[in-house]
Amino acid sequence: MPRTCAPGSGSRIALAAASVLLVAGCGVTTSGTAAAPSTSAGLAASSSSPSSSSPSSSGSLAIPETDDVETVDVPSVLAVDSGPTPADFAAGVRSLKVVQTGTGRLVVVPGAVAAPGRGRVVKVRVEVEAGIGVDATAFAAFVMATLNDPRGWGHGGTLRFARTGGAAQIRVVLASPTTSARLCRPLQTFGKLSCRTGNAAVLTSYRWVKAIPEYGSDRTGYRHYVLSHEVGHALGHGHRQCAGRGAVAPVMMQQTKGLKGCLPNPWPYPGRTV
Ligand SMILES: [Zn+2]
Repeated sequence: MPRTCAPGSGSRIALAAASVLLVAGCGVTTSGTAAAPSTSAGLAASSSSPSSSSPSSSGSLAIPETDDVETVDVPSVLAVDSGPTPADFAAGVRSLKVVQTGTGRLVVVPGAVAAPGRGRVVKVRVEVEAGIGVDATAFAAFVMATLNDPRGWGHGGTLRFARTGGAAQIRVVLASPTTSARLCRPLQTFGKLSCRTGNAAVLTSYRWVKAIPEYGSDRTGYRHYVLSHEVGHALGHGHRQCAGRGAVAPVMMQQTKGLKGCLPNPWPYPGRTV
């Protein structure tokens, strides 16, 4: 069954000069029941630890969110009948064959990229597991372009995202099925589902490479979606439901579970151009 975030379970924290409403975690236990509400989410934390399994001193969520335990019935093998496209390469995907297990070591993409435009700056650190055959530099560029897209969380100058190799408010982690499953524990993702744990959006390379059938050949669209969705959790957003057949799917809908008649949509603010 779909999970919903209970209203009133949010909390407010200070981020820079502003307050951000944080909907408490909608994480589920392996039994499918709601986890205990948390008191803060990723933006409260500025963890420098590569490990996402332990709560930070500022109280970031100990219970990861996943999309979702119930989604294990999605096809585990997707038809991919050709090699990587230029769009795949632009997302760091160099092969459509998924590496099941990397080295287990998360490597921070080095360097710093300033945030474009105006608005409050959120620092993002991008980490890629070594040995999974992904072009980490291209992946990082895709991540930042997505977050700063006018249709993304940074639309309208409300937020803007800078990349750092150091301490960050949000971590974006791309890891193999095996490692992502470990990072997302205690939730069971089977390596096929992404999650948000603490201040980290943990993306499984399984979906990053293969996407989901509902997006057809638009793997880029799914990549925009899963990144925006998990970072959305780190920004404090909870799940939303499909409003009805033919409606545009909210980015915070668990689209990996199926679109429920909604139209696929990768963006927090679809249609926005500024
Ligand atoms: Zn989610």
